[in-house]
Amino acid sequence: MADPAECTIKVMCRFRPLNSSEVARGDKYIPKFTGEDQVSISGKPFMFDRVFGSNTTQEQMYKASAQKIVKDVLEGYNGTIFAFGQTSSGKTHTMEVRESEAYKILHGSLHDPDGMGIIPRIVQDIFNYIYSMDENLEFHIKVWSTSTTQLASITKNNLSVHEDKNRVPYVKGCTERFVCSPEEVMDTIDEGKSNRHVAVTNMNEHSSRSHSIFQINVKQENTATEQKLSGKLYLVDLAGSEKVGKTGAEGAVLEEAKNINKSLSALGNVISALAEGSTYVPYRDSKMTRILQDSLGGNCRTTMVICASPSAYNEAETKSTLMFGQRAK
Ligand code: ADP
Ligand code: MG
Repeated sequence: MADPAECTIKVMCRFRPLNSSEVARGDKYIPKFTGEDQVSISGKPFMFDRVFGSNTTQEQMYKASAQKIVKDVLEGYNGTIFAFGQTSSGKTHTMEVRESEAYKILHGSLHDPDGMGIIPRIVQDIFNYIYSMDENLEFHIKVWSTSTTQLASITKNNLSVHEDKNRVPYVKGCTERFVCSPEEVMDTIDEGKSNRHVAVTNMNEHSSRSHSIFQINVKQENTATEQKLSGKLYLVDLAGSEKVGKTGAEGAVLEEAKNINKSLSALGNVISALAEGSTYVPYRDSKMTRILQDSLGGNCRTTMVICASPSAYNEAETKSTLMFGQRAK
């Protein structure tokens, strides 16, 4: 295993625009952008590798936070990109969105090129790369997608790997398959998502109380030289980081929220241990960090996108979100 000090962790911070209910309520827009890498909230400064204001496009976000990692994965490195933030802060918008509903309504089924988040752009870039390569290179693209609700049913320390009747390996409880096109990749994500547990809390929105993890593994073999390369990338849309008290959750939902908070703090501990170059990294404290272990640390590429609401109403939550991101610096 490579020296943890070699690993590269980048932390980006993105503020979404005020949403319609925040505007209707007359909420104040609180972030003050004081440089490319600094934002302050009520006078308290926070530093990141980059900060992004509310009119940042999806393409700018992709270029700054993911494009380089994709290139590295195609060169045989492993990597992870996380989106962290409270419910409704823009995590799914940043990671996943394929086309905006508004665009579809206005333009029929035409594709909105800016609507696409990081994941569909990554998939597109990987396939464009494959299509551009010469015939001596053979590619095997394998993807799987899961959510913590499914992970909860996976016991023991190691995920058990099985083979289906076509001898395609899969991780128990996950949808895993070899894919040949960007469309097939996106279908796998949809399948993983349909298993994602969404509980309604009084945050007014559907609060996604589980992490969704997507892995894309690219294997290349040069049939002339027999040279092989393999890189994999985890893309993680984390569950909402909000404090349980604010959502008024009870019973099973409250229990789940506590588990989520526990796994988010385990993740925070792993990332800050890696950032400090500490010799002990507590990967084994949560299922998620255990799964991600070979793509976090070592000589892996890690990017955390901290997503935040700009509204004064969410100030306390926004500050704690930004504090979490600072721990990785
Ligand atoms: P989360 O996944 O963190 O719960 P979402 O990504 O679902 O949050 O975002 C909540 C709402 O805000 C969605 O309707 C989404 O379209 C909108 N939104 C989020 N980020 C942006 C952005 N940067 N620009 C425009 N709209 C956004
Ligand atoms: Mg979401």
